[in-house]
Amino acid sequence: MLFTDLGLMPELLRAVSERGYTQPTPVQARAIPEILAGRDMLAGAQTGTGKTAGFTLPLLQRLHERGRSSGPAPRALVLTPTRELAAQVAESVRDYGKYLQLRSTVVFGGVSINPQIDQLRRGADILIATPGRLLDHVQQRTLDLSCIEIFVLDEADRMLDMGFINDIKRVLKLLPTKRQNLMFSATYSDDIRKLAQGLLRNPVEVEVARRNTAVESVSQLVHLVPKDTKRALLSHLIRANDWPQVLVFMRTKHGANRLVAQLQDDSISAAAIHGNKSQSARVNALKNFKTGELRVLVATEVAARGLDIKELPYVVNYELPNVPEDYVHRIGRTGRAGASGMAISLVAPDEMGLLKDIERTIGKPVAREPIPAITAPPPRAASDRPVTAPASQAPPRHRSGRNSSGRSNGGSNHNSSAKQGNWRSGPAQRGGNRSDSRVSR
Ligand code: AMP
Repeated sequence: MLFTDLGLMPELLRAVSERGYTQPTPVQARAIPEILAGRDMLAGAQTGTGKTAGFTLPLLQRLHERGRSSGPAPRALVLTPTRELAAQVAESVRDYGKYLQLRSTVVFGGVSINPQIDQLRRGADILIATPGRLLDHVQQRTLDLSCIEIFVLDEADRMLDMGFINDIKRVLKLLPTKRQNLMFSATYSDDIRKLAQGLLRNPVEVEVARRNTAVESVSQLVHLVPKDTKRALLSHLIRANDWPQVLVFMRTKHGANRLVAQLQDDSISAAAIHGNKSQSARVNALKNFKTGELRVLVATEVAARGLDIKELPYVVNYELPNVPEDYVHRIGRTGRAGASGMAISLVAPDEMGLLKDIERTIGKPVAREPIPAITAPPPRAASDRPVTAPASQAPPRHRSGRNSSGRSNGGSNHNSSAKQGNWRSGPAQRGGNRSDSRVSR
């Protein structure tokens, strides 16, 4: 099947072909004609399946067909659980809609509300928003939701996981009753079904790439490793295999910060992305990671939701998630849209129970691989210790590892490699640090 078979208008087909896509993904092939026909939809599709274009393209077409409205109030609302996902959806809307005269804007928390108010005042046909900031605007009367014709609830399961159910209910009360509703969710829990029942009218159900099949394109392996060897192993894997880019998952913000400091100590450029980081720090870290300036992005579960990083080859679970489904979400960051990827989990003895749960969920065991002989990173002078910079300041080139002030703020969380004492003996690293050239990419 080709994009041209889906009933999309030439302006959209042109934008799609400029992105280099000729064939729709399964969710696009199934969803686009139904949404164009005005149906409500419940789609079981997770990030990585091409779902964003699946709803964005027909949404743009339907709004275009109805003609531009005269007032500033938006006619389509896309609600997403995280700022990152909101920003990415907004980018897709702009990109796919570049040959149409529709206006779009995005609102989310963590940034000043005033520029958003100006934007809303100027008017937008399509509004992409996270729930909290959306309701702030409604409360301040800077947003009118009474003209919404199409409502999209993206990553609905995440919304519920993140405790947004009451916000969603409040938003729904603000929308006109006559509208088209599209709901996307990677999983179908009872709560999701209940939400869908209240929201959707005679929906067509589309289910593609069920969780378990979505992970087929990702090679997975497990290293059984003592907790206090994980840091040395990760650092070794990155350097010895010359991994250009790695997304590392941690359970806690604190742990993520500490790991970033440790990697920097090993001359590996890294930054953290989590809920305690300012929006600009998160955006910067993501930008530097996408451009390849930053080699390692250490993320917590929530911050990584919806991250769309093209051709991300490696995902490392430094700690296994408590919820098995999150494992599937995490490894779904790699091997996207048909690309192959690799997910490596570092599993300590006290995580074996979690590993068993994960294997039950994905329906197969994950191959165990012995730990390679770990080589220590090249020694660095005490004065070379890098700083634990906020993501926005993480030194992209930090052979010297110093920020402009030359201070180290690694603090008490900072474990020097000498303190680790868990380097397994291995062949001394010959030829210097292979990764050095990558560090200063
Ligand atoms: P999503 O599931 O919407 O987050 O999309 C996952 C990735 O697939 C994004 O990087 C899209 O740009 C990409 N993508 C979307 N549609 C297609 C397509 N038809 N062919 C190839 N890649 C696509």
